[in-house]
Amino acid sequence: MTAFRPFPLLGEPLALDLVNTRAHLGGVDVDLLDGPRALDRWLRAERSRIAWTGHADAADLAAVIALRGVLDPLLRAHVARTPGPAAAVRGLNRALAIALPQPRLEWTRGGPRKRAASDGARRATLLRQLAGSALELLTGADAARVRRCAHPDCILLFVAGNPRRRWCASSTCGNRARVARHYVRQQQAG
Ligand SMILES: [Zn+2]
Repeated sequence: MTAFRPFPLLGEPLALDLVNTRAHLGGVDVDLLDGPRALDRWLRAERSRIAWTGHADAADLAAVIALRGVLDPLLRAHVARTPGPAAAVRGLNRALAIALPQPRLEWTRGGPRKRAASDGARRATLLRQLAGSALELLTGADAARVRRCAHPDCILLFVAGNPRRRWCASSTCGNRARVARHYVRQQQAG
């Protein structure tokens, strides 16, 4: 596991925040969800929107990364205005159809008792929530505003609430672009 790296872009719709856990940083592709602890950090960062207690395990991580592998090609196809890959469409529909484990009634000699949902309940709920976010994003009011950062070295996606927004963050990619333009002007002037 690599050292902790901050998530470069949070606060977009959940489906985008998940896809943005893969980034191109310093010229290399980086997977910021590189272990269950990293997923814990992401879930903590999203705690205002995702109900999750306790620690994620390897199976949680594998399931979230598999879903990210479905959302990523769908959202990038949407941004590129190309058809979503059929396998990814099927993958998202499978995630949307995940049954949410419910508590059960058991009638014992002592009378009726509620048996809690299984351990898989919170994972199923998480996957359904992330898949639902992708469905809303692809078909809802913000669909036409999903963009990829304009910096050629950046793969992050965002919803351009302001139609003039071009960068994932003006403090990083916007600034890099400004510095590059300034450099070109200086070279041309000299
Ligand atoms: Zn960027």
